[in-house]
Amino acid sequence: MSQIDDLPPLRQVIETFGIAAKKSLGQNFLLDLNLTAKIARMAGDLKGSDILEIGPGPGGLTRGLLAEGARRVLAVEKDERCMGALAQIAAAYPGRLEVLNADALEVDVAGRLEAPIRIAANLPYNIGTELLVRWLSPTVWPPFWDSLTLMFQREVAQRIVAMPGDKAYGRLALLVHWRTDARIVMDLPPEAFSPPPKVSSAVVHLTALPAPRYPANAAVLNRVVATAFNQRRKMLRSALKPLGADIEDHLNAVGIPPTARAEEIGLAQFCALTRSLTP
Ligand code: SAM
Repeated sequence: MSQIDDLPPLRQVIETFGIAAKKSLGQNFLLDLNLTAKIARMAGDLKGSDILEIGPGPGGLTRGLLAEGARRVLAVEKDERCMGALAQIAAAYPGRLEVLNADALEVDVAGRLEAPIRIAANLPYNIGTELLVRWLSPTVWPPFWDSLTLMFQREVAQRIVAMPGDKAYGRLALLVHWRTDARIVMDLPPEAFSPPPKVSSAVVHLTALPAPRYPANAAVLNRVVATAFNQRRKMLRSALKPLGADIEDHLNAVGIPPTARAEEIGLAQFCALTRSLTP
């Protein structure tokens, strides 16, 4: 089966340690180690990097990351049942795998890793977008990580990489495009997972830009974009009214037609409007 290491095949690991997939934890496991090694390679140069992995489960992607040469992996897994399987991997790669049995939404990991840091994960779908938004919204930029290589439902991946005019274009795409280069690097059918989810998936690779693409105050930009897309079918002069009675003047000042709709406006224009509205 697996050629990437000398550990047992994942089906056997799951049986040995009793890790039957739980829906409540978003558990859809990748069992093909050649596929997990391929996903690991999408994360870039692993040899000189520490990797943060969220939700290692029985360890398919973890083994891919280690076999592909990751300097160190810090894996955060909520499900205690996975600890035995992960300890077996840690023993096979001495000093290179640290496992935290914790909730990724609650644990602070930045201080535990050394730069350069890459994040790679087959994320639990119920917390994937929340984690992504957090990683994209630290108080200082550049963030603690250099790149993110993340599995999402295909529909969410499309929202991440969408451009103006695309059906999936909105708040998430603008936040991503402001601070990163992002692209879909792999599509996966439901059958790639066990059990297969109802929808297709995709791996997105995001690289942190050294500085945001255009200057803007993060909180104000977030409010402008949220207000604009809150009523995405409305013209901006009425959708953005909550930002001030003089919003039409600001739109005109930065060259955005007040009759345009949010989905037609690019990042550069949203940032210009943000600067105009920032005291
Ligand atoms: N990485 C494994 C793979 O590719 O086969 C498992 C992926 S599975 C989609 C998601 C994993 O995230 C599960 O192992 C689940 O237990 C874990 N998980 C779910 N919620 C979590 C949370 N809040 N914090 C950390 N891990 C979590």
